[in-house]
Amino acid sequence: MIREELVFVATCDISGHVRGKGFPARELPGRLKKGIGWTGSNLMMSPAGPIWDTPFGTAGDLMIVPDPGAEVRVDFGDGSAVEHFFLGDICTTDGKPWECCPRDFLHRAVVALEELGGPRIVAAFEQEFVYTGTDDRPGDAYALGAFRRQGNFGETFIAALRAAGVAPDSFLAEYGSRQFEVTVAPQPALTAADHAVITREMARATAFRLGHRAVFSPKTDPDGVGSGVHIHLSLWDGGGRPATYHAGEMMDLSKPAQHFCAGILHHMPAICAVTAPSPVSYLRLVPNRWAPTVIDIVRQDRGACLRVCPVFAAAGPMEVARQFNIEFRACDGAASPYLALGAIIFAGADGIRRSLPLPGPAAAPQSLPSTLGAALDHLSESEAALRWFGPTHLDAYLRFKRVEAEKGAGLSPAELCAHYAEIY
Ligand code: GLU
Ligand code: MG
Repeated sequence: MIREELVFVATCDISGHVRGKGFPARELPGRLKKGIGWTGSNLMMSPAGPIWDTPFGTAGDLMIVPDPGAEVRVDFGDGSAVEHFFLGDICTTDGKPWECCPRDFLHRAVVALEELGGPRIVAAFEQEFVYTGTDDRPGDAYALGAFRRQGNFGETFIAALRAAGVAPDSFLAEYGSRQFEVTVAPQPALTAADHAVITREMARATAFRLGHRAVFSPKTDPDGVGSGVHIHLSLWDGGGRPATYHAGEMMDLSKPAQHFCAGILHHMPAICAVTAPSPVSYLRLVPNRWAPTVIDIVRQDRGACLRVCPVFAAAGPMEVARQFNIEFRACDGAASPYLALGAIIFAGADGIRRSLPLPGPAAAPQSLPSTLGAALDHLSESEAALRWFGPTHLDAYLRFKRVEAEKGAGLSPAELCAHYAEIY
């Protein structure tokens, strides 16, 4: 059959979905400048599709302009259509970033930290998901048997990541039923978020070609463990030197790292509405599931909100400093990596700006919000979040998520899990 290659240009929006439009690949040179047509209300497409509420109506024109540095072209070699897409920025028709562009939100967070004279942030995403192309057997947690029985999925997925320009770090069978985890190499913030989006799409693209699904919903079984997105963060100075570690300081964290983490903890009730952004996210944040329930920072504890990670087999002090990182554990696959990492960086930058101290060891940690509605209340009351988002973007985000919270409140945990497993 005759075929002509297509290209897709996309954003990863409030719903965390990758949405955009396609065109013939031969039109690419022109499209690199003018992008594809978009509109404000496209941002308001709910996770399941319908627009519930929108401040933008049917008016207005925007475009998603592809970033040549965020191109993916992967030929799976099985005769299926080539996966060719670009991630891009939502711009106004004169080419300026639109005030509600999720990718620009992260870009602005990076700039805000830079303008403070703060460190650069390098991030690595560790993402968990359920692969439907394997069976569930007792004893499967981290098992070689489970690793083997996923068949060709793992190897094809890793090859696809590599072909997409994303360096895989590890792939494993996780603790949960049919659950797997992939970690990719650290990158500067914007590239790290692009790579997080690409990683999810490569998992889905691989599973699709094998007739199955990679499900990134935060929880697929009310009684099981959830799937988290853990974001490893490290600070680097302007000369490219590691700046997270300072031996002998509190938890061996440098002063800027302490303030950065204190900022995240301070704003956690509000940013939770962005990093754990769906009703089903809050079924994951429960005790004894390796997921956080309180707003804390703990050294080497996988139940913490911020985990100060260990350093492995470091040959010398420089290697210790290079490896040292903090893991943000209150994020999941319903979040747009741009919004989640942007909110974390804005919060950390605020901690640096105000020289916020870390809580002392005796301080009793506050609980994380226990519902999306409660997290949204904190977000709507946060003057800092209003500055980070700007009024139009924050209003759009809150309207979107308020309806999602209301709809979710009408569903039982089992119904929520089933519904979101179909969506993500
Ligand atoms: N599945 C757990 C979560 O929901 C994390 C398990 C782990 O520590 O890797 O975040
Ligand atoms: Mg894990």
